[in-house]
Amino acid sequence: MENAEKFTTLIKNGQWYKGNTHTHSLISDGRCSYDEVIGFYKGRGYNFLAMTEHEIYTAHEGFDAGGFIVIPGMETAPVSQEEGYNISGMYHGLLLLAKKERAGLKYANMQKAGPLEWTGQRGFQASIDSLSSDGDNLVIMHCPRWNQMTPDDLLPYSGYCAIEIYNHVCQEMGMQGNAEAHWDLLIRSGRSVWGIASDDLHANNDPRFIGGGWIMAKATGLSIGEIAAAIERGSFYSTQGPLIYDCFIREDTIHLECSPVEKAYITFFGDFGDFGGSGGKRAAFFSGATCWGGKGGDFAIGAGGGSGDGGDGANGADDANSAACVYTLDKRLGKIMQGLKLDGTYAVRITLEDGRKNLAWANPIFVRK
Ligand SMILES: [Zn+2]
Repeated sequence: MENAEKFTTLIKNGQWYKGNTHTHSLISDGRCSYDEVIGFYKGRGYNFLAMTEHEIYTAHEGFDAGGFIVIPGMETAPVSQEEGYNISGMYHGLLLLAKKERAGLKYANMQKAGPLEWTGQRGFQASIDSLSSDGDNLVIMHCPRWNQMTPDDLLPYSGYCAIEIYNHVCQEMGMQGNAEAHWDLLIRSGRSVWGIASDDLHANNDPRFIGGGWIMAKATGLSIGEIAAAIERGSFYSTQGPLIYDCFIREDTIHLECSPVEKAYITFFGDFGDFGGSGGKRAAFFSGATCWGGKGGDFAIGAGGGSGDGGDGANGADDANSAACVYTLDKRLGKIMQGLKLDGTYAVRITLEDGRKNLAWANPIFVRK
């Protein structure tokens, strides 16, 4: 059993760091100064904050202290010279996060680096390539739900490591902040694209707009390079509250260690062929299963480290004092895999929900045998 291959996106040895990857100040269209905004997050126990002003790269120094760092960044979106800004369907936004320490960055602090010129989809791909080409930047796709991008819009693009699956201000202001459907379609196509939750803060110190969604990165340390490396390889999860301590698949069994939750939604993606390679089949089937804490559902959550008998998973959900639960989604998963006639190549994505309807999204785990 121990020799069986373990599939996970999380690095083995690391620490957890809390961060927001999408933030505006008065430098672009936020309501508060750069240092005020940093103070809002620092005061709430965040460990890192990416500042992402529209079309202006910021890399101010002097804010890193006491278990907190600022990641330089920018938000950029193409503009049609002929038709003006933000035409419907044309706001294909990107977030850049610095991938290296400040020395050698592609842009200087306060450099106006956009907007890109909208020249159609091919041009947008060229923009992604250009922005990430020298290896200095991570590229994250802005929440495609708010942009009203269709999956067809999104599928041709590559070269970004993640998409915003939850953008809090877009959700609060217009119910357009959840892009899980876009994410699922990308995974279904065999893309190892990670899902990010962020505030996209524009407001002042308003609890309605801060802390709506964030990421927890498992990294080797707290530096720009180490956090960026964790994001790039998917060693993080997104959340509105529930915590994930470990999540992996071994021998068709999902092992999940997390804070008390009421539900685990599990989505299977299967029959990818060679995962996006030229000759492979695309997903022929995918399905969801829901686990309620030991009380039914498509298969049970076993508590206590893998008894595998379904157990009483409700222990965790019902006990507010419980710091963590170990949920082993038992061998029934193997039966489901057989039932789906999957050939051993599949992906699984897990969403958790606590008693207050807060969600957490684990990154997809791709199992290749
Ligand atoms: Zn923004």
